[in-house]
Amino acid sequence: MTVPFLDLTNQYQQLSAEIDAVISDVLKDGRFIGGEVVANFNRDFSQYLDVKHCISCGNATDALEIALRALEIGSGDEVLVPDLTQISAAEAVSLVGASPVFIDVHSEHYTIDPAKISDKVTTKTKAIIPVHLYGLPAPMDEIMSLASTYNLSVIEDCAQAHGASFQGKKVGAIGDIGVFSFYPTKNLGAYGDGGAMVTNDPELAAACQMIADHGQSDKDKHIRLGRNSRLDTLQAAILSRKLPYLDAWNDRRRSTAELYRKLLPEAPITLPTVPNYAAHVYHLYVIQADHRDALKEYLEEKGIVTAIHYPYTISRTEVYASHQSSTAVNTAHDLTGRILSLPIYPEITPKQVECVCSNILGFYGSH
Ligand SMILES: *Cc1c(COP(=O)(O)O)cnc(C)c1O
Repeated sequence: MTVPFLDLTNQYQQLSAEIDAVISDVLKDGRFIGGEVVANFNRDFSQYLDVKHCISCGNATDALEIALRALEIGSGDEVLVPDLTQISAAEAVSLVGASPVFIDVHSEHYTIDPAKISDKVTTKTKAIIPVHLYGLPAPMDEIMSLASTYNLSVIEDCAQAHGASFQGKKVGAIGDIGVFSFYPTKNLGAYGDGGAMVTNDPELAAACQMIADHGQSDKDKHIRLGRNSRLDTLQAAILSRKLPYLDAWNDRRRSTAELYRKLLPEAPITLPTVPNYAAHVYHLYVIQADHRDALKEYLEEKGIVTAIHYPYTISRTEVYASHQSSTAVNTAHDLTGRILSLPIYPEITPKQVECVCSNILGFYGSH
């Protein structure tokens, strides 16, 4: 049996009649940018999250950059970002002219470690970007209380956490602005790029909307420096059609996680732990493993594809390594040598999960 890391074709096959119909409607209608279809998706997604405003845009990296600009963060400012994550948060901070300051992560939850934040706050610190990494919400109560102590804006990076909740509240609108990605492999994925910013603050919503649309207040009235970033109509139509399935897909990811927990040993691997405050949506199922690289290779030979999220901390990637001292982010760095993402997606079968687990047991039996 082979187990791909991810397979997006199966989901399309199940939904093909519905998806083909909405695509065909957009094609026949002849409106490919904006319009009611995009407005409807913004409404649907904000209702799903229970937030007042959703502004869709081109992708989550744009969304992070636009959110920072809406919060007036720029040159001379510092923004706290976790050191173990996808690069977009740091990149967006740099793109607005501010400096990312890398914070270590929790050794079991992998999200930003609140205990490591105060040491890094300076008079220049203006914001923090907690990332709900792998689908697990960051400890938002501690983060919000630190943010209020130090007067920081909070941008939640929810690119891996559509539908995840913190103390019963969906992530996205706990901080000032939440950003989402609809990259095809995310828990809610388009068939191309897409992203969104969500907020309960009408002024921030207006600023995000304006920046994403060339700084226009009205057509041809450019009142601030903006840019172009938009979710196209086809992707909006597809996302509105997929959104009603999101909770069921997340439930299936959780069932898969339970099966992994049942079939895998606690040692020599470490399984994900879920703190009481969180409902995890398992964008990724990440374990820590002794002999990680050998295990990965062994599984590959058996037809099981795994991945590493991420092989380097952000502070040690080439683009940032020369700017920062990375000594304070040891946990994140140690994790990059031990973490392994096992296959997980709504359509993975129990047989495939069993196959992954029995091969992991087989590997440790012979090592
Ligand atoms: C995927 C991802 C992003 C970037 O999303 P894009 O839409 O591809 O720009 C940002 N942050 C995290 C944590 C991600 O996983």
